[in-house]
Order: sequence, then C-alpha cells, then structure tokens
Amino acid sequence: MQPFKYTRANDVAGATRAVSENKDARFLGGGTNLLDLMREGVENPSELVDIARLNLTQIRSVDGGVSIGALAKNTDTANHPLVRQNYPMLTQAILAGASPQIRNMATNGGNLMQRTRCPYFYDVSMPCNKRQPGSGCGALEGINRNHAVFGWSDKCIAVHPSDMCVALLALDAVVKVQDAAGKERSIPFAAFHRLPADTPEVDNDLKRGELITAIQLPKTNLAANSYYLKIRDRSSYAFALVSVAVGIQMRGKTIREARMAMGGVAHKPWRAAEAEKYLLGKAATDENFKAAAEVEMKEAKPHEYNKFKVELGKRAIVHALRRAARSTST
Ligand SMILES: Cc1cc2nc3c(=O)[nH]c(=O)nc-3n(C[C@H](O)[C@H](O)[C@H](O)COP(=O)(O)OP(=O)(O)OC[C@H]3O[C@@H](n4cnc5c(N)ncnc54)[C@H](O)[C@@H]3O)c2cc1C
Ligand code: SF4
Repeated sequence: MQPFKYTRANDVAGATRAVSENKDARFLGGGTNLLDLMREGVENPSELVDIARLNLTQIRSVDGGVSIGALAKNTDTANHPLVRQNYPMLTQAILAGASPQIRNMATNGGNLMQRTRCPYFYDVSMPCNKRQPGSGCGALEGINRNHAVFGWSDKCIAVHPSDMCVALLALDAVVKVQDAAGKERSIPFAAFHRLPADTPEVDNDLKRGELITAIQLPKTNLAANSYYLKIRDRSSYAFALVSVAVGIQMRGKTIREARMAMGGVAHKPWRAAEAEKYLLGKAATDENFKAAAEVEMKEAKPHEYNKFKVELGKRAIVHALRRAARSTST
C-alpha cells in the first residue's frame, strides 16, 4: 500500500472541501471496499478523508417515506423498524450481502459506491479499461462467468456488485448529495449508476467532491408483497450471480403495480422494465410470471462462460414473483 495522508472531517463542508481540492483524495466510510482496493494497488489515493464521525447516521420518517443516512451502517439500516416494516425487500437485500462483521462496518454511502468485483479489475497485472482506461478488457475474451448480460460495451462487461442497490432501484429511491459549495442535489436512483459505454472508469453520476448525505425511500404500498432473491455460488461471502428485488401491489386477483430490479446482470442495477410492463393488469399466476421472465430476458446478450445466466435470470424472476405473491393478503 502506498503512503497516504489521513484526515478526519468534522463536518460535511470540511469533508467535501478536502476531496474537491485534491483530485487524489477519497472519502473513507467503513473502509471495507476502499482499503482492499488500496492493498491490491487498484486505488492509490494520496489522502483519505474519514467521514465516519459526520452526523449522517439518522434513519427517520420523511414525507410519508423514510430517509436513511449515508453513514448509517448496513446492519443498523437493515434492522431499523422503519425499514423492516415498510421496505422488507431492502432489509432482505442488505442481509444477503457480505457477512455480519462487514455489514457492521459498511456504510450505506459506501455500499452505493463500492466497485466491481471483476477479477481482472483487482489483478493489476491484467488489462482492465475500468482500472486503466485504454488498456483493454481482460474479461471480454477471458473467464467471464460472473459478468454482464445486459447493457455492456466492448470496453467493459463488469457487473455492479451491490445487493442493497438492487432493492433501492426497485423502490425508486433518491440519492441526496452535497458539494463543497454547500449545493445539494437529488439524483433518482436509476440515474445514479451508469452503463460502461466508452468510459467504464466512471461508475456513477457523482461529481468530484460531492458527498452522499442520505438516501430517500418514497412511500410505497409494496411491503406486503415483496421479496429479494439472491442466487450465488455459496451462502456467505459471495456476490450475486443473479438477484431479483420485486414488489407487487394487487387489486383483487390482478397486479396493479409491479416493481422489479435485477443484480448480477449489468454494470448497474438493472430495472426489469419489460417484465414490470407485462405484469400490469395480469393475474398473479405462474403462467404470467414465466411470460414476464421471458420478455425481460429476451434481449440478454451473454458471453462465452455466462450463458447460464439467461435461464437462471428467468427462473429467478419467476421464483421471486411467486414468493412476493404468496404473501398477498388480499
Ligand atoms: C468479503 C466481502 C464480501 C462482500 N459481499 C458483498 C455482497 O455480497 N453484497 C454486497 O452488496 N456487498 C458486499 N460487499 C461489499 C460491501 O457491502 C462494501 O464493501 C461496503 O458496502 C462499502 O461500504 P464502506 O462504508 O465500507 O465503503 P468504503 O470502503 O469506505 O468506501 C467505498 C467507496 O465509497 C466512497 N464513499 C464512501 N462513503 C461515501 C459517501 N458518503 N459519499 C461519497 N462517496 C463515499 C469511498 O470514497 C470509496 O470510494 C462485500 C465486501 C467484502 C469485503
Ligand atoms: S469487465 Fe470491466 S472491470 Fe472487468 S476487465 Fe473488463 S474493463 Fe475491467
């Protein structure tokens, strides 16, 4: 690991100023991703600005929804009664990730900003356009079992690793950020992460020096019928091969609203918009769930080693919908 300067921020203004003034500075949340990247030589910041003591840990009701602080720990967020009761799929998604020890350290802001787990990204001896723009993509012709089937480019086929973010997308969350001038911005979750196109080194819409301060969850009526399904190689310490966050709202026997997002399939959490559209006004039957899964996965473009994700994605959608529908009380 290269030497770096350590600074502890006392307030949001000080933190954002420090990072906006030094292009090689990074915010330090729980450190569970950034410190690993530094140990591997993937990231070499000259300064870490520790934000752990900023007053951004509250989880509270706002405008009928819930605001979760960027520095609330993943564990505290998953277990908070407001989240458990109103957004159970978020609780399930967070608890499906990492391990209890890591979730006790990891912050919500850091979870949104965590970087891909593509093995070529972590191996500094391999070409990787995300780590070193213009060097090539080791995964494109390499071992690409865990990689994207949607939205990839010939520059990068990595997937976003977060579970929490898949649920946040399905819930139409909004990311609140603040810059060094004190200016605040609200970014719809769907616009926060980006597809790789020609600049895979850019993971998201955040500008230099902007700090995530909170994530807002709008009021929904999906709590009774929602589910997060994660499929992985083993049940702990494993990132999703495919995951599905789903919430449905029933009117009698038909689906009035469907929200669905997928993880492990694209460079950003992937909105299953085609399946959502298909399900509107349909009965909650296995036949319709299977048809929705077919529609959603129709445009998938797998690589040599991840063709299995197309069928796995379909089955995961059907299974998640079944589980969500089963808890229907109407
Ligand atoms: C062994 C292991 C297994 C894991 N498994 C999973 C899994 O299955 N599912 C899953 O979803 N995750 C998993 N994770 C990832 C884990 O969830 C993330 O490492 C964690 O959420 C990052 O949070 P942090 O606070 O530690 O971030 P840090 O490591 O401190 O920071 C990560 C990045 O976010 C930036 N940052 C942090 N806070 C802010 C902020 N408020 N505003 C702007 N930028 C910010 C930092 O500058 C840095 O670039 C795993 C991690 C490990 C080590
Ligand atoms: S898929 Fe993306 S992260 Fe992985 S090697 Fe290619 S460019 Fe790098």
